[in-house]
Amino acid sequence: MRTVCGLATARGFAVGPVFVYRGDGDIPIPEYVVESGREGEELARLRRALNETKRDLESLVATLRARTGRADAKIFECHLMILEDSVLCRETEKHIREDRVNAEAAVRRTADRARSMFERMNDPYFRERVRDLDDVERRLLKNLLGFAANPHVELKTPSIVVADDLTPSETVQLPRALVLGFATNGGSATSHVALLARAMGIPAVTGLGDITALVEPGETILLDGTGGTVIVAPDASAIREFRDLVERQKEISEEAVTGAPAGTLRDGGRVKLYANLHPGAPLEDVKSLGARGVGLYRSEYLWLNKEAEPSEDEQYRAYREVVEFAKTLSSEASVTIRVLDIGGDKMVRGISQRGEVRQREANPFLGNRSIRYLLSNKAVFRTQLRAILRASVHGRVCILYPMISCIEELRQAAAVLADVRAQLDAEGVPYDRDVPVGAMIEVPSAAINAAALAKHVRFFSIGTNDLVQYTMAADRGNESVAHLYQPTNPAVLRLMRHVIDVAKKQGISVGVCGESAADPLVGVLWAAMGIDILSMSATYIPVMSKLFSKLTRADLDEYLAAVDAIGDEATGEETMARCREWMLSKIPDLDNIVF
Ligand code: PEP
Ligand code: MG
Repeated sequence: MRTVCGLATARGFAVGPVFVYRGDGDIPIPEYVVESGREGEELARLRRALNETKRDLESLVATLRARTGRADAKIFECHLMILEDSVLCRETEKHIREDRVNAEAAVRRTADRARSMFERMNDPYFRERVRDLDDVERRLLKNLLGFAANPHVELKTPSIVVADDLTPSETVQLPRALVLGFATNGGSATSHVALLARAMGIPAVTGLGDITALVEPGETILLDGTGGTVIVAPDASAIREFRDLVERQKEISEEAVTGAPAGTLRDGGRVKLYANLHPGAPLEDVKSLGARGVGLYRSEYLWLNKEAEPSEDEQYRAYREVVEFAKTLSSEASVTIRVLDIGGDKMVRGISQRGEVRQREANPFLGNRSIRYLLSNKAVFRTQLRAILRASVHGRVCILYPMISCIEELRQAAAVLADVRAQLDAEGVPYDRDVPVGAMIEVPSAAINAAALAKHVRFFSIGTNDLVQYTMAADRGNESVAHLYQPTNPAVLRLMRHVIDVAKKQGISVGVCGESAADPLVGVLWAAMGIDILSMSATYIPVMSKLFSKLTRADLDEYLAAVDAIGDEATGEETMARCREWMLSKIPDLDNIVF
């Protein structure tokens, strides 16, 4: 039994067989055990991919011979020989037949063995062949993946997905019902895979280093997304313990949210608990989990997995769907649609390929992203605003601008919005003339200058995922700087206090839509500071609601005073420890509530 430590990314527990994606540059390779009786299909896929790869190589050889003569072509002739080597082919087939693994895993195993054989040879010529082998393997794997209509649907039995890292688009393609948990080598607690795992209610541990190298497809592992560990080769008693935890977790999330609306304090006061959603997010449980509105709709997911821009009508349909849905949540419900927030770690294929947001930007987190992209691509911005305004006739909609860093951006965005409204007026297209416009506060400059920004907007939504990243200069997706990524660092707390105080003074609403809203200690702290709306993955609403139901406004004041008392010289961790200590003094069974 071996415990591997990573970052607690999405709470919860899982026990199950491994489905592994081993990264190969830009292509993740799925490796799994195939159902008994399906070996023939894998053998057929292998044969098709071998033929395809052979054709690719032959045509490459022919082209090179015509263009540059024999020398260059020779390399690929050698690749053809490797590909057609009968020993390697037989060995790969044997892995499929006897180990019952998918074709990709079989190719990997054969190549790994041949590689280690070549590497042990004294002759430099043979050692050099390792590179050729790598090349052939990559070509073959690419063709194999091309043959599977969608490699992600190869996930056939409930499994824990283990990967180097997963992009948001890969994650959303996985069949939710079959993913028991995520364990990744890289990533951090606020990476986009993490956000999706939470939205899907799937436990996840990220930043595990080399977990993909420690597991074999099909073997049972244990995953603790609350503590941030994965147990490889567990013994029977650990498996039993985890099965119990999984059961307990199910009971807690199924405990009905009864009586008062979610977010009601013990003295009847309220904190609005809203859901963070995105196009394609499962909606079925959002209402029963207690969400009273949609505090953040991440529209960029409409752009994922697409070569082309989503049309105005396509966007309108998506926005209308969520707006109609929100009306079922509560009479007060609104949907805050955030305009396209791409760039940084959210690369969108269609757009980045057109070169407008360059993957090559030396520093994409500080680059042409989010509102900056929209203001330099006004046609995209206008289309989106039109679609949002058209959807506003179906329910209460708010428009949210991401990554605002200065007042100019708000002025320019207001001009575009005024243009779009004039155009709709001219066309006689109806829309809600009172749609509130808000700014995300996720860049320190916006937080510092909040008083000026507040004059231009009706609400603030604080994006702590990015605000912490930019304040601490610690990449939210980089596990090696995760220790610096602390929402309770005194500098972050000061910014939070300032933004909330400004909003209160100027009479505008202020919410938090970053993941910290769902952290039992930190989310309650934001509420104590005066936050009106905490917006989070709906799966966390029951726990937060239960916590609030045990506290009064006077308790929240006391909590804030206890945190304030610790002062600016405390570390983020010390502050967290103080928060926990206070919370335990009020709610002794805290650990039974917070899973
Ligand atoms: C944030 O930065 O906190 C936020 C909610 O936006 P995203 O996570 O989508 O960047
Ligand atoms: Mg953000």
